[in-house]
Amino acid sequence: MALEKIASRFEKLLVQFSEQRYNQEAGLPYDRDLMKKLSKQITEVSLEFLENFVEPRSMYLASIATIALAERLETELDLYNQRMEKISTEKYGIAGRKVNWGNWRQFNSKTDDYLKRKEVFDDFIAKAPGIAFLIRKRMDISNDVYGRYDLTPLDSYLEFEGMGYDELRDLLIRLGDGAKDAFLAAAEHFATEVLGKKKTEYYDDYYTWRGHIYKPLNKYFEKIDALNEVRMFLTDFGFNPSKIKVDAEDREKKSPSAFCFGIHIPNDVRVCFRKVSPFSDFGSVFHEFGHGIHGISANPDDSVWKRYVVPMGVAETFSILLESMLDTPLFLKQELKLAESVINEIIDRRRFMELAFLTFYTANGIMKMEFWKKGYSIEEAAKRWQELTKRFFIEVPGNYWLLHHVMPAYDMYSPSYVIASMRVAAIRERLRQDYGEVWWKDSDAGNFVRDLAEMRGEFDVKAWKLDAESYLKEARTLSFL
Ligand SMILES: [Zn+2]
Repeated sequence: MALEKIASRFEKLLVQFSEQRYNQEAGLPYDRDLMKKLSKQITEVSLEFLENFVEPRSMYLASIATIALAERLETELDLYNQRMEKISTEKYGIAGRKVNWGNWRQFNSKTDDYLKRKEVFDDFIAKAPGIAFLIRKRMDISNDVYGRYDLTPLDSYLEFEGMGYDELRDLLIRLGDGAKDAFLAAAEHFATEVLGKKKTEYYDDYYTWRGHIYKPLNKYFEKIDALNEVRMFLTDFGFNPSKIKVDAEDREKKSPSAFCFGIHIPNDVRVCFRKVSPFSDFGSVFHEFGHGIHGISANPDDSVWKRYVVPMGVAETFSILLESMLDTPLFLKQELKLAESVINEIIDRRRFMELAFLTFYTANGIMKMEFWKKGYSIEEAAKRWQELTKRFFIEVPGNYWLLHHVMPAYDMYSPSYVIASMRVAAIRERLRQDYGEVWWKDSDAGNFVRDLAEMRGEFDVKAWKLDAESYLKEARTLSFL
């Protein structure tokens, strides 16, 4: 089969598969058998490509990833089910159900008694080894599939992001080291109010902080309609937001976290969310619409691989760019009409979470890089992750990594948000310089962003200097430090 034919068959199957995946996440009826059938067919197309072509390189790497995904499918479903079952406790409940891996964060966010949170944390950590064999199996399948093409999942990740091993590792260490002291000082400042105790401890994880710290801001966002705001924002910026389909309905089985699916790029791009709490909803709606404009900006005449095969750090560039409006005092003042004191609270709390994110993701990112490079066992990975948490924030029992939602479930991934955040800082600086302080009101600035978005898989990952120092400087600027 000719390359174009393989690619268009790949796209056709992918569109059908994504539609089912979308329905699943959106809490709509979906066809599990059809998904299995489609996954098998996509694998066949990928194999055919790999047997006949080595170029385009992005399609080559994406084909390997597709096969690895298909081969892992059973194991990942087992992991999903067993994790819910084994990582659970009868002792506490939430909304009439026992607390388990799935509603753990909800429990942490609704529970003010920190001793209860500690008890559940310790219990789940003790139970974590019970799912370790499935995580081992999942990682081994990936390693095996990539190994057939003389690669590791890490090699592919680094190639997509355009970074060398040492380069990325050094960057993460710089960020983690640079964020640590400010994080610990700010954590001490917020602990009494947010955690109900003087000190932050190992069981006060990133998600617990995130689930509590924005609560005082909700009252200012109750009357602000995020959907309305993002549509006005995008219209001024020169985009047509009506091209992005939105599902904001509340459905029982709908995913609690917002998401965006480019089902048929650029013609069928959908944002899906349900209301959780006013302040974080605002951030997630802007974030997902950033993915949305990235999707609708693709050129329909471009190749399948250019439109669909996009490095994670590039995809997150556009979502983080839109979300960063929440860190922009002038936007908060002019568009949302918020008072100075409220704006300061928002900036302080968002920056604190940025610091928490940097320390946590540095430990996560380094561990996952070494995992592939050094071929860690599950126990070695836990030991190493514990060491890294001690170095970059607070020592956390190593088996926590088995309970994280990204680390055990993906080959790599963790550093992409960090890379994207730094790239966004550089892009925002350019927008400010070329289009002024209120660049988001200028459709020429929008055109500039659209041109970047249209690059999709050919986005130049080296074009923007990732400046750790100035990024850290901003993240460390909190009003009380
Ligand atoms: Zn995202």
